[in-house]
Amino acid sequence: MYKVYNPKLRELPPSIGRLGELAYNLWFSWSDQAKSLFARIDPLLWDQYVHNPVRLLAEIDASKLQQIAADESFVQQYDAVIRQWDEYLQAPSWFEETYPQHKQQAIAYFSAEFGFHESLPIYSGGLGVLAGDHCKSASDLGVPLVGIGLLYKKGYFNQKIDTDGNQLAETVTYDFAKLPIAPAYADAAPSELPQELVVTVALADRTVRLKVWHVQVGRVSVYLLDADLEENSPWDRELTAQLYGGNQDIRIAQEVLLGIGGVKALRALGVPTGVFHINEGHAAFLSFERLREQLDKGLSFHAALEVIRASTVFTTHTPVPAGHDAFPLPMFEYYLHDLFTAYGQYRDVLTQLGLDAGKNLFNMTYLALNTSAIRGGVSKLHGQVSREMFRGFHGNIGAEEVPIGHITNGVHLSTWLAPELKELYSRFLPGTWTTSQTNKDQWGGIDLIPAESLWAVHKQLKEKLIGYARANLREQRRRNSMPAEVIEEVRQYLSKDALTIGFARRFATYKRANLVFSDLNRLDRLVNDPDRPVQFMFAGKAHPADRPGQELIREVYRVSQMERFSGKIVLLENYDMNLARYLVQGVDVWLNNPRRPHEASGTSGQKAALNGVINFSVLDGWWEEGYDGSNGWSIEMNNEADWATQERENTESIYRLLENEIIPLYYNQGALPTQWVNRMKRSIRTLAPVYNTDRMVMDYTNETYAPSLARTRHFIANDYEEAIKVADYKQFILQHWHQVRIIEVNDGSGKARVASQAADPLKEVSVTVKFGPVWYKDTAVEIVYYEEHSGRWQQRVIEMEPSRQLDDSTVIYRASIPAHLKHGPHFSVRVHPISPNFARRFELPLVTTF
Ligand SMILES: *Cc1c(COP(=O)(O)O)cnc(C)c1O
Repeated sequence: MYKVYNPKLRELPPSIGRLGELAYNLWFSWSDQAKSLFARIDPLLWDQYVHNPVRLLAEIDASKLQQIAADESFVQQYDAVIRQWDEYLQAPSWFEETYPQHKQQAIAYFSAEFGFHESLPIYSGGLGVLAGDHCKSASDLGVPLVGIGLLYKKGYFNQKIDTDGNQLAETVTYDFAKLPIAPAYADAAPSELPQELVVTVALADRTVRLKVWHVQVGRVSVYLLDADLEENSPWDRELTAQLYGGNQDIRIAQEVLLGIGGVKALRALGVPTGVFHINEGHAAFLSFERLREQLDKGLSFHAALEVIRASTVFTTHTPVPAGHDAFPLPMFEYYLHDLFTAYGQYRDVLTQLGLDAGKNLFNMTYLALNTSAIRGGVSKLHGQVSREMFRGFHGNIGAEEVPIGHITNGVHLSTWLAPELKELYSRFLPGTWTTSQTNKDQWGGIDLIPAESLWAVHKQLKEKLIGYARANLREQRRRNSMPAEVIEEVRQYLSKDALTIGFARRFATYKRANLVFSDLNRLDRLVNDPDRPVQFMFAGKAHPADRPGQELIREVYRVSQMERFSGKIVLLENYDMNLARYLVQGVDVWLNNPRRPHEASGTSGQKAALNGVINFSVLDGWWEEGYDGSNGWSIEMNNEADWATQERENTESIYRLLENEIIPLYYNQGALPTQWVNRMKRSIRTLAPVYNTDRMVMDYTNETYAPSLARTRHFIANDYEEAIKVADYKQFILQHWHQVRIIEVNDGSGKARVASQAADPLKEVSVTVKFGPVWYKDTAVEIVYYEEHSGRWQQRVIEMEPSRQLDDSTVIYRASIPAHLKHGPHFSVRVHPISPNFARRFELPLVTTF
């Protein structure tokens, strides 16, 4: 097996000998005790080094190390943290107990970004933070997950705001030797010297070498690929320089390196992979490499595809067609030149897997959909939107039948919940509340917290945020060379007593950061009400190529600089996980007003909810299912109206709710707003047990990983017997399906009879189907009709029973249906292939309807 050797930072005094080891395990990022231990070494440096313990230990004075090593109370705290850490690593896990049969096989989780912690800046926003939180909960639950990503030498970027509100994207080149990452080493015989692992990937007309780095995330290993090696050409060395940097060429090259290089790295490391999880289309080329492996084993293309599908899970994150990565065909062929040369006979079938024929593009989401048996979106609403969007893929079926499900996103509790609140909750919830956080009942304990205690901690967190925000603003002004008195003004900014509304996320246009500025005079009346003031904090980065996004930043900045809003509407710079923690823990209300349904899930509101910050949001993404009428507020609109109208209605709803409900509730009872605190409690109690990544990773395990592992095992047993059978069967069906015809429908009009229990009279319908060479038992014959339920049309499907065989290939089916339904105007009949070996009901896009 592979090995990991953490670089020896330096000789540490024996009494604190394992601090180095601890610094290399991102477990520290969700252990409040470990973080406070590192902070204690040198609080200023800890902040200055963006909470990076590796750099802290590498650069701190030797004398300081000697001093803490001799400090009895420090060593005591150190011992306690190490004990907790060892216990954590060895604790029996949910996965081992639930799926002992699967513990030898890894789930390979591929993502273009991972947001673990501010010290490892390889994320740009929600997608990365979700991937990071997924790994952390996998570690907590003992799921044998292995992450694969890219190591970006220049990370994303640091955001600076100038005096005109322009976003300046500052890039930093990171010193990998001082990040919590370590080189991975190739599998070597005990006698050999370990070698740093390098894998090679064919890219266009050349070969790119990738160094493999290792990140330890609790019990989970994540491997990151890095092209910045001397052996690579200067152009190739830059391929992993920046997250989503540059043009389409860089993008497709990055995706080839991630997908194909990632699989090669896992093989070189000897990781026994069972399932591959494609987290957003970027990583879908992993299926090409896995198909190639199967072809090399001598499997037919179709059998290979069955194996890959059975063992692949895909999560899509983008509810807008334009948001999916797609490349011009010549570009795609150029970068995959090597594959198409060596496997020329498969060129067409491989291209077909991602072909968007209408646009002549190779679409990464199509590739992911076509090579995964289990696919889903990231919230209930997003699942629905995805089914509509990809309906064309699956033949003539209702959108609700499209085999794309959803698992709603969550957040990692220990990462996002304020330590102060963790302590408070611990006093009122059962002892094991963090490890059983998905248990709704225990969260009832939140109601036992005295209102004054919850309010006191909340106020404390708010003051912490205000202090941090002032420092952020002061630094902006200092850097922009503002006069000393202007810098000092910041001391007066923001009030701990004002109702504080937070809005922080990527500045993408659909998130409409400027919506609340639609009527500045009305906003002015709210913000400057002497008795009941309101203040706003904004933060977020726009992608450097996103000009409209940057214009939004300028607009927020301009408003923040207006005399009347000075110190009451502020724009904080360089939104990262650190600033995110301060905001979601410290504001009173979390505002989110995206253009519905463009927010696939959203997770920042979930972080806020955990901390008793109340959501005030459009019913989009997770909030559509999270909001229950009394655990926050919903921004209303008519979903059917055009965008301009929706925007007007949303704006009106925001002002109206603020004026009539939110502000009055907040200022209702003076120093202790009991009703407000009750709403905080309701929000925590109803949302925390559901919108966490423990629930999410358990759902992924139960609904996707475990079934995929079982099905794959079945498919590959006895030399791929079942996979070959299924592939052959599908080919047969595809070839002969055109012979399946519904030749007669007898809808028995008029011959109604009243069924014993049912109020509705039923009648019998019979249908004659000719199957040709297809076996009738390999199909389902169904009646489909629509029923109106409270204004919405819902599909009803009635399975018909074979009742008489006319000849070898002709069968009559019967079913009882509501008597008023007539064939044609009211119902249709359909036949489609089924098989116990299909992962889902509509696995083949074959539906014959009459
Ligand atoms: C959680 C988080 C996000 C995602 O926020 P959304 O509101 O879901 O878009 C983005 N950036 C950072 C730094 C985060 O912590």
